[in-house]
Amino acid sequence: MWWAIVLGGGSGKRMQSERNKVLLHLGGESILIRSVRILANHVQGIVVVIRQEDHAEASACLDKLSLGIPCLLTDGGLTRQDSVRCGMQLLPPECTSVLIHDGARCLVDGQTIRNVQASVDVYGTGIASTPVDDTIKVVDADSMVLSTPNRNMLRAVQTPQGFRLDLLVQAHRKAMEDGFVGTDDASLVERMGVPVHLSEGNRTNMKITHPEDMERARFLLDREIRPQFRIGHGYDVHRLVEDRPLILCGVRIPCQLGLLGHSDADVAVHALMDALLGACALGDIGHLFPDNDPAYAGADSMMLLDRVIRLIRTEGWTPANTDLTLIAQKPRLAPFISSMRENLASVMGIPVSCVSVKATTTEHLGFEGRGEGISAHAVVLCQSISGH
Ligand code: MG
Repeated sequence: MWWAIVLGGGSGKRMQSERNKVLLHLGGESILIRSVRILANHVQGIVVVIRQEDHAEASACLDKLSLGIPCLLTDGGLTRQDSVRCGMQLLPPECTSVLIHDGARCLVDGQTIRNVQASVDVYGTGIASTPVDDTIKVVDADSMVLSTPNRNMLRAVQTPQGFRLDLLVQAHRKAMEDGFVGTDDASLVERMGVPVHLSEGNRTNMKITHPEDMERARFLLDREIRPQFRIGHGYDVHRLVEDRPLILCGVRIPCQLGLLGHSDADVAVHALMDALLGACALGDIGHLFPDNDPAYAGADSMMLLDRVIRLIRTEGWTPANTDLTLIAQKPRLAPFISSMRENLASVMGIPVSCVSVKATTTEHLGFEGRGEGISAHAVVLCQSISGH
């Protein structure tokens, strides 16, 4: 039976934070909670080792998680090694193998954990590790180089570090007897002469230690949780008046009345732009193209659509398809639908078959039915640009 010991006992010193760094939030939850939640998919129980003063906060968050497995809290010791030992005291007799994990490594992935566990099953030990890219120098106290180890023989080790429990208990007992303090649990096993096996880790499994690590972790997390698709909706209304052209989806439609607005009042394109911006959570067109800005007086909305498409592309999104509904009692729009679709497809850079424009009346009901104005609804699906 697998259990995990998650170490959350550190202070915020290196993070220049008043609070325990594992309680800082990242992507809507605390670093500690994210670590626990990921590990919970791979073990039958978890012990969280955390400072006494952080118990209440950690416990409240853990309760909300409904992990479905036991999750116990205990105080940390003075050193990392002491904290692991405190955690081991709470392991139940049925526990045969254990993962030791830094609570601050909340970007750990399932494959890394499975690799560690598979290694423990075969070798009794499994330590997540990655090759080293930098050349490493061994130096003396004056920073004079003593040697340059062969990089191919070096690995950077992370957590989880997995062990057969009897082996880890023995290694900790021996270290305590000898007064030895190691920087990780593997080193305690190594010094007993027991071979320690490394498993394949992941470079993204970083330990959040310094303030700049938070930024990098946020970036990695955003990439990880970024969905493939985003949906957006837009709605707009313009009043019908005399002496104005009627322009819908860039098509000039012969009509005695036209839409009133600061720009060319292309209500359909306005709804579409809002849908695109909405899908990517980039605000709305009122914010992007203010209607009191003279630059947009009489503006061609198709040009503005082009700018919106460029903007969402810089954010890593591209439109996949759109469905637009125009609500107008008159004029009859059916003869212009295919030109409208072609116009939109060309600016959006997608096939005409992915652009739907529909028109409907309201049976003379409401402002559209009385011919006072035209409204438009647009929904759009945006797709993540691969590699962004
Ligand atoms: Mg408008």
